[in-house]
Amino acid sequence: MNNTELINGFGDVMQHIRNQEKRIQQLEKEKQELEEKVDEAQVAFKDLNDELYDLREFKKDAEHTCAAHVVMEDMMKRIARAESRENFTKKTLEKEINEKKQLRTEINELEYALEKAELCKCDQCSEYFPIAGIEDVLGVNSINCDMVCLECRDEHYTQCDECMDYHHNSNIITIGDRQVCSQCQEEDEE
Ligand SMILES: [Zn+2]
Ligand SMILES: [Zn+2]
Repeated sequence: MNNTELINGFGDVMQHIRNQEKRIQQLEKEKQELEEKVDEAQVAFKDLNDELYDLREFKKDAEHTCAAHVVMEDMMKRIARAESRENFTKKTLEKEINEKKQLRTEINELEYALEKAELCKCDQCSEYFPIAGIEDVLGVNSINCDMVCLECRDEHYTQCDECMDYHHNSNIITIGDRQVCSQCQEEDEE
């Protein structure tokens, strides 16, 4: 290798080094640009995140508002239902009371009509008979009077051979061929 070759060779090396330096500068510039872009991207990302957060909060609020609205509507419906039920109950009760009043009036009228027609209810069979067909007899306790039809009188009561009153069969004692009431029998014993 002569001197010229040596110098030329050195020149090549220097050129190569300069080229490499330029390349490094270029790369550093690109790196800086990239870093800036990353920063921008991060800011943008943060903004997006904030926006997303806001949207989520808004959604939550909206849901709460909706829920409150739904609950409110439900309450209103329930109140309306309760009110109509109360009205219905009131009306039903009023109707029942009126019907009962009417029945009472009808019963009163019927009783009055029966009195006027001089009908009387038999204490035994509960049928109505003209007063002439009803007889006063002595009841089970021998004190109270029963008003009975002739048929019931013959079936459930017997005429005492002493006092000639009709007594309930449970108070009639047979002595020989005589039938007397327990009161007459007691008096006989004394
Ligand atoms: Zn009777
Ligand atoms: Zn008697």
